[in-house]
Amino acid sequence: MATSATPVTLSVVVPLYNEEANVAPLVERVAGILEALPEHPSYEVILVNDGSTDGTAQSIRAELERRPHVVFVNLSRNFGHQLAATAGLDVSRGEAIVLMDGDLQDPPELIPEFIERWRAGYDVVYAVRRSRKGESAFKLATARAFYRIIRLLTNVSIPMDAGDFRLMSRRIVEVLKRSRERHRFLRGMVSWAGFAQTAVEYDRDERRYGSSKYPLSKMLKFAIDGVTSFSDVPLRFASYLGFTVSTVAFLYAIIIIFFRLFHLGIPEYTRGWASTMVAILFLGGVQLIGIGILGEYIGRIYDEVKARPLYLISDIERS
Ligand code: UDP
Ligand code: MG
Repeated sequence: MATSATPVTLSVVVPLYNEEANVAPLVERVAGILEALPEHPSYEVILVNDGSTDGTAQSIRAELERRPHVVFVNLSRNFGHQLAATAGLDVSRGEAIVLMDGDLQDPPELIPEFIERWRAGYDVVYAVRRSRKGESAFKLATARAFYRIIRLLTNVSIPMDAGDFRLMSRRIVEVLKRSRERHRFLRGMVSWAGFAQTAVEYDRDERRYGSSKYPLSKMLKFAIDGVTSFSDVPLRFASYLGFTVSTVAFLYAIIIIFFRLFHLGIPEYTRGWASTMVAILFLGGVQLIGIGILGEYIGRIYDEVKARPLYLISDIERS
């Protein structure tokens, strides 16, 4: 039986939120694949219960009793996917750490290939989705737009169509452990870390049981986290827009003064309330957008300054 002193080569970290029916098949598949490996590594499967409201905790406890190498991390409430993953990474002890979703959309069959590449010297092996089954056209389109926008606005090169399913070496996880930002965009933080990174392609399966925990509102929040954690382009966008509008206004003023000075009469397009209204509304809109962008960043500064713990663990059990 693995005690906390046993060296662990591979940690598999799985955040779980209302995945009661997925836990058993997931652990079964992961354990089966790892134990079939020729030089089968010592491993642990870290199951993080992210404040589930269904029977996920019971399902995890059943696994604890049924088999070795299981670690149950129970969070005090729902903290969200990225923070639940962070909790699992913090608890992990392996030399290599695989992060994967608990809904069997990330096939554990890729893990042997991850390990092979890691043994060949890579620090990060991430899985890139060649295709995604069973997801709506809307989800596909928004996911696509998301990766393109991130790439456009940020200066770290975050690989396209790669989720959080990946293997990381111990030193990458140590980098994450030292980066305690609250609005976490893990895949961006991993790209930022550098070292040798490589991709493995795969076909993304359908979610096995239950439904996606990423509705549009959460996806949007996640996208804003991704952009604001890695880019100050939106902040500068407000000043660019300000400069552009001021320049146009200045040229316009010169034209009006010119007409006035040389008694050319007031041109038709400078008269009337229509042009005034357009200018006021346009400027009002631009200012509100600018304030909104400032607000996004200030809200994040506020969250970071409070420096609360990222998550709270209510208990950890190991089999
Ligand atoms: N998840 C979590 N906490 C949450 C939401 C999701 O731990 O608040 C887990 C979820 O159980 C799953 C993974 O994060 O293992 C990815 O979530 P999901 O499959 O809903 O996302 P999608 O694949 O639809 O993007
Ligand atoms: Mg999923």
